[in-house]
Parts: sequence; C-alpha cells; structure tokens
Amino acid sequence: MINKLIGCLLLLSLGACAQGPNNTTLNKTSMSANKNQYYSTTNKEKLVLPDCTWKQVLSPEVYQIAREKGTERPFSSAFENSKEVGTFHCAACGNPLFKSSAKFESGCGWPSFFEPITKSSIIYIPDHSHGMTRTEVECGKCKAHLGHVFEDGPPPTGLRYCINGVILSLEK
Ligand SMILES: [Zn+2]
Repeated sequence: MINKLIGCLLLLSLGACAQGPNNTTLNKTSMSANKNQYYSTTNKEKLVLPDCTWKQVLSPEVYQIAREKGTERPFSSAFENSKEVGTFHCAACGNPLFKSSAKFESGCGWPSFFEPITKSSIIYIPDHSHGMTRTEVECGKCKAHLGHVFEDGPPPTGLRYCINGVILSLEK
C-alpha cells in the first residue's frame, strides 16, 4: 500500500498522471506487474481512488471505459450473447451489479439487463453529452462508468441497462 502510494506520487511528480490516455507506456509497464488489490466481491464500502491509482491497477481497456467514460465497439463483447449463468460484477472493484437472470438479448450491440441486483448497486447520472439526453449508469461502489439505461426494455421493469462488457466480470 505504501509502495503503491510512493509509486503514485512518483508518477505524479513525473507528470505521468497528467498525461492523456495515449501516453501510457510507463504505466503499462508498472501495471502488468501489479494486480488490482482493490477488487473485492464482498467488501461493500465505497471505493474512492485517484485516477493515478486506477491507471495502475486496471487494464487500459477497463480504465478507458471505467474512468474516461469510453464506449466499447458494439457487438465486440463476448457477454453480449452469452447465456452463462452467474453474477456480473464491476470489473474495476468487484461490486455485484447484475444477475444473469436479468440479462436479455436486446440486439443493441452491448450486454443488456432489465434490472440491477439492488437499487444501490448502481448510481444514475443525467448525461447530456453528444447532443442527447440520456441517463448514465455508474457502479454504486467505485463510480466506474458502466453504460446507460433506457426506457425501452422488457417487462417487468421496462428498462434496458446497456452496459459495456469490458467493465463486467462474470462470477459463475
Ligand atoms: Zn465498481
């Protein structure tokens, strides 16, 4: 932990944290040597970390979605049509988000669910980017960007949680 902090400060002093997502050579090297020790499927406490630390413990793909609100290419996730049974957790922090029984095939190109595991698994944020009015959904524990929720889903909720597969981790 202390090593982590020192490493983080070091990176900060080198200005690496202030750089854009494309300048990740330094972080990539350190990242492959580090595991995400913050990932826990049982710890429910809110997780607040500086971007600098996230960059170290997450893969570049997960970091880009979770912390930079990226969107994976449609139809690129193996989870989109998967029928595997289990619980989908936040890939950044381990928070349980969706049950496979709440998953449905929406055909929209991203894994889709009609309800989260609990109300507090998810945070809802109005999103007016790209000239649209949408509702962004974030992880209730670490505030990772997950995707968006739309009101054209199936019963019983009528909701469609359109989620980036990269930010999901399936525990069977
Ligand atoms: Zn999370």
